Amino acid sequence: MLRPMEAQLKKLRQMLEKECQLNQELQNKNKVLERQLEQKERLLQVLQGQLDCAPQQNSNEMPEVRQSRAAVMAPERIPEVLEITANRVIKTASEKARIVKAIHKNDFLRRLDEEQISMMVDLMKVLDCRSGEDIIREGTEGDSLYIVAEGELKVTQAGRDLRTVSSGDVFGELAILYNCKRTASVKAITTVKLWCIERQTYRSIMTNKSKKKREQIMGFLKTARTLKALKDVQLSKIIDSMEEVKFQNNEVIVREGTEGNTFYIILKGEVLVTKKVNEQQKIIRKMGEGEHFGELALIREILRTATCTAVGAVTCFSIDKEVFEETIPFESLELHDENQFLQKNDSQAERISSLVSVDLLEDDVKPEKVGPETSLKPKDLVPVLYQEGSYQGEPVTLGVGGFGKVELVTTLQHRTYFAMKKISKQHVVAKKQEAHILLEKKILQAIQCDFIVRLHAAFKDSRYVYMIMEFCPGGEIWTKLKEAGRFQENIAMFITACVVEAFAYLHNKGILYRDLKPENLMLDSKGYVKLVDFGFAKELSRGEKTYSFCGTPEYIPPEIIQNQGHDFAVDFWSLGVLIYELLVGSPPFSSSDPQKIYAKILDGVLNFPSYMGEGAKSLISKLCRSRPGQRLGNTKNGIKDVRNHRWFNSINWHKLRMGQLEAPTIRLIRKGPCYINFDRFPYDKTQAEEEFSGWDCDF
Ligand code: ATP
Ligand code: MG
Repeated sequence: MLRPMEAQLKKLRQMLEKECQLNQELQNKNKVLERQLEQKERLLQVLQGQLDCAPQQNSNEMPEVRQSRAAVMAPERIPEVLEITANRVIKTASEKARIVKAIHKNDFLRRLDEEQISMMVDLMKVLDCRSGEDIIREGTEGDSLYIVAEGELKVTQAGRDLRTVSSGDVFGELAILYNCKRTASVKAITTVKLWCIERQTYRSIMTNKSKKKREQIMGFLKTARTLKALKDVQLSKIIDSMEEVKFQNNEVIVREGTEGNTFYIILKGEVLVTKKVNEQQKIIRKMGEGEHFGELALIREILRTATCTAVGAVTCFSIDKEVFEETIPFESLELHDENQFLQKNDSQAERISSLVSVDLLEDDVKPEKVGPETSLKPKDLVPVLYQEGSYQGEPVTLGVGGFGKVELVTTLQHRTYFAMKKISKQHVVAKKQEAHILLEKKILQAIQCDFIVRLHAAFKDSRYVYMIMEFCPGGEIWTKLKEAGRFQENIAMFITACVVEAFAYLHNKGILYRDLKPENLMLDSKGYVKLVDFGFAKELSRGEKTYSFCGTPEYIPPEIIQNQGHDFAVDFWSLGVLIYELLVGSPPFSSSDPQKIYAKILDGVLNFPSYMGEGAKSLISKLCRSRPGQRLGNTKNGIKDVRNHRWFNSINWHKLRMGQLEAPTIRLIRKGPCYINFDRFPYDKTQAEEEFSGWDCDF
């Protein structure tokens, strides 16, 4: 009797177990499906955001966004002087015309200015290749741009044929801007003649040309009486605000008797000055290169006293009164009219210098706090391990970057966490980045700001240099943005406000940052944002320019793309790009192809999605102005203008600096193990090679 009952019970138990198992499987499946659904929804949100902000005519095109956004740079130093004539390669008029035509067909190159293009044409060398010769190999680092003069070449990627290129086609153009891996191979399939230019030549020429042009314009400005009292730093700011304008033969530039509000310097061509005398136009004089007109329009309401007409094609450099007033404090100017000059007096000169430095002497920058004195030694630090999941037991990697990785470590005694940036010395040497890394450490060491990650210690061994930083447990803003699709305005505003404070601190110390992007913004435990990654930071004095190509493509301003020299204004441009990306989910100038990104940046057209508020649109437009001197933050009131913009109306800056504002970002932070807010990485056990050149002796 018992036996059959036992058997039945066993059977029932088995059935129950099976059902439980089935249930579990179903639940698991459900979870997977839920996760997939969530991911799809997020993707949909991102795509919707991008669709909303895509320009009208492209509304049926799929948005192209780059997957990884590594920073880029040109590591070579630019020689101070470069003999242009020695590098010039003689070409016939028809050869020149063919090169220009090829350049004009290229989306990015055709946006360079006439002079830059003509110089490129002059400097291109001839390269004769046999059939079957490899010109570019996929995966190698390129340094030249090519234009096909004659013959045919095949482009392949991972063994697949992509296209053929022939006479008049351009390839390899990205390499003239910076170091980059070739994404395809190019092989000659006939005898081929190419024109080519190397990055080093291109950049040296562009840079030296830009420097000379600035010096020349500075000289021209110094001849204007109104600007006489200004210092070079101020004149340099005026140049940064000025714009090039072109006039055709016989075009009237200013007309007698009309209201004037623009000042012009003639860069190229001639201008005829005439005046009405007894109903007749009387020629007063002809002006040429370097001469200027309309300067009084900068300082007062005037009616033009003469007519200026272009004789042939004329290029001028100009500035409007409105822009001028934003660039230079009115008090700095030497006021005069036609007959009367004021004598410059010393007290006025003093006044001027104190006005120029208005953004250097920010009265409301928080005084520095002295950080915790730590005497960390490498032996005190142990890796933190993943406690669960597929990487359980392996050391936690917080991020992987260009030169190494960032690991989570802790001290046995203190139980505090640190982020340890570990950089391969051999890689640094191979990429000629020794000076950059030393500077990154030096700058981070000198910084004590609540909106910037703290450096606690630095060490080195035979393979790596290490930077031990304060750990930001909230994770990257980038990760949070990808999870959310796009941020609500209050969150974007809070994040940006923290960055503004970090920039105020850095600029006040004469440091520019140059690599702003959500990947380099971390959340601390309170939801406050901190800047990390000082790989591109640079010390610069006011009025000075620097010429290296660096940054992350979507965030690079036009003056860097054009090698014109740049300064603190780059950070304000990138601030505008950041606000856009936080609110929209993708940056304003984006494409899967970096060249298209640069073409869009040079065009400077901002397309805002319909859901974006007026305040945000206004602030982004003011930060992303093509001319660096016109950017909010870089005008006469400095960064105060950014803080005072209406988009930030609800931010109490003092409370923010004191850490007394409740951070809306706190709800982006997940609770759980200390690494919960980070992507997970498998532990890479391979060791970097040893390196003994000694560049790191001061590390
Ligand atoms: P580089 O651009 O100089 O090559 P990188 O991009 O390799 O630098 P970082 O940007 O400094 O290096 O760090 C890479 C990633 O590591 C960050 O994006 C972030 O996810 C993580 N990380 C860096 N510093 C910290 C920190 N203090 N706390 C937590 N995570 C950090
Ligand atoms: Mg980084």
